[in-house]
Amino acid sequence: MPGVSSRSNSGPAQQVISMGVDSANLQLAVCTWCGGTGWEMVDGKGVRPCRCRISERRNQLLAAARIPKRYEACSMDNYIPQGSPRSQEFLSQAYALRDAKNFVDEYPIVDHGIVFFGPCGVGKTHLATAILRALVINKGVNCLFYDFRDLLKAIQDSYNPVSQTSESRVLAPVFEAEVLVLDELGASKPTDWVRDTMTQIVNTRYNDKKITIITTNFVDEPENPQEESLTDRVGVRLRSRLYEMCRNICIKGQDYRMILQENRGRRF
Ligand code: ADP
Repeated sequence: MPGVSSRSNSGPAQQVISMGVDSANLQLAVCTWCGGTGWEMVDGKGVRPCRCRISERRNQLLAAARIPKRYEACSMDNYIPQGSPRSQEFLSQAYALRDAKNFVDEYPIVDHGIVFFGPCGVGKTHLATAILRALVINKGVNCLFYDFRDLLKAIQDSYNPVSQTSESRVLAPVFEAEVLVLDELGASKPTDWVRDTMTQIVNTRYNDKKITIITTNFVDEPENPQEESLTDRVGVRLRSRLYEMCRNICIKGQDYRMILQENRGRRF
């Protein structure tokens, strides 16, 4: 096949044709595996999509997933359960990590998403973003991360009072992402609009059998009766839908940032 290069599995993947360094010229990077055709020869087997296309697609998927910079480096490997080894805190974190790993390993043979419950700083978002990264990188899954408040704001900002609808550029990816992380569910003031909007999003995803992963600081039965429950924040309909579509993972413990600060204090 013209232009298809047959190569062994070692060596540099890309050669850049030197024509200056602006981004247009970087597009002209020629892959040494496929010579730019997108197809790579496999000895004795024919051709397959070139590895440069696969890594290009992974990079596009990672960018499209909108994982915040702060959580870009979060992985299963750098989530370290905290507390003394037999404490409830340590065990809850170790189980959460195990369940997150299993979820990625088993995907796409999973029929439930996850709700990560727990106080601030115990690593709910860390694990949720680690799952997204692993799904994109290991399995090429189309994922999306949204902070609950940012999503509401984006929907509000795109609202067109004439058509009385929000632009689909915001909502379409939220409906369509194969796996969606909704971070900090319940963090916004629970007006009727907020509840209806969230219920519509989660319901649409449920009907389309899409997987949703949620993090929240609100629990079902707060220890202090003065505190609001997740149902108080998101409404009965949405809470009940989440029971059907997600597994609950409760993480206990201290705010990791405080632990780091205490450890730093001890060192100086
Ligand atoms: P939450 O979502 O529960 O409020 P985050 O996931 O935002 O907490 O965690 C706060 C910070 O602490 C993040 O930078 C996260 O990477 C880090 N972190 C939390 N728990 C752990 C842990 N057990 N091991 C490593 N880093 C952690």
